[in-house]
Amino acid sequence: MNPKIVLITGASRGIGAQTALLAAQQGWHVAVNYSSNSLAADAVVRQIRDAGGTAISIQADVGNEQQVKKMFEHIDAKLGRVDGLVNNAGIVDYPQRLDQFSSERLERMMRINVLGSFLCAKEAVLRMSTRHGAQGGSIVNVGSAASRLGSPHQYIDYAASKGAIDVMTLGLAKEVAGEGIRVNAVRPGVIDTEIHASGGLPHRARDLAPQMPMGRVGTAQEVAHAIVWLLGPLSSYCSGTFVDIAGAR
Ligand code: NAP
Repeated sequence: MNPKIVLITGASRGIGAQTALLAAQQGWHVAVNYSSNSLAADAVVRQIRDAGGTAISIQADVGNEQQVKKMFEHIDAKLGRVDGLVNNAGIVDYPQRLDQFSSERLERMMRINVLGSFLCAKEAVLRMSTRHGAQGGSIVNVGSAASRLGSPHQYIDYAASKGAIDVMTLGLAKEVAGEGIRVNAVRPGVIDTEIHASGGLPHRARDLAPQMPMGRVGTAQEVAHAIVWLLGPLSSYCSGTFVDIAGAR
């Protein structure tokens, strides 16, 4: 059996990094994508290799079509054609009301969170679909509970970008179901990662914990377990499925 190859976008930190480590433990050869933090990406790759796994790191802005194409070509050459894609890279922004949003903010949010996932899914389908002579594959999108909640007073734009990911998951799952490709999504609630600091709220996870139904927020590892399950053969009849990992929120 040839090893399975997966690209995990935004795998240098947080949920993506934990997913890369877990996927490698389960035998996947992993392409660790990152945007700017090469040290963090290299540390993930080193951890995988030290444990006997196979991984490469690869810089690309998922919201840039040329960079996405080059990233997939690099993976073709170094690891082989992808069997799996985890569309994980994503951003938030500072808390604002909708009537304060600038068009630059909106464009950045949609470019990275929505366009980025579409561009990577396109390149993956071209390499996975039986229609294109390949053997099939599995795509896992990382959405958010925000698409159910709307994120008022913080980032409706982020919530809307994740709503687009929900719809893409449903549509693409149906579009390629007969071509050997499964498409699923996880929708995390509040997870303890650095994303909150990048949105100007470094203590968001800690501050919100008491309001959560379970009295705590989630860990990146708890999300990674669901992603890797959806990626692999144990979820073989799941497609167009959403796994909410939000502790009953
Ligand atoms: P994080 O800790 O902030 O990590 C973000 C990752 O994405 C980093 O690896 C970063 O790379 C990468 N990235 C950012 N912009 C990118 C771009 N344009 N191109 C390629 N990579 C890029 O985030 P996280 O909390 O793990 O979130 C991961 C996903 O889960 C996101 O889609 C997020 O919306 C979703 N999510 C998170 C939560 C939560 O509470 N944490 C809840 C629901 C959903 P660098 O290291 O190079 O910057």
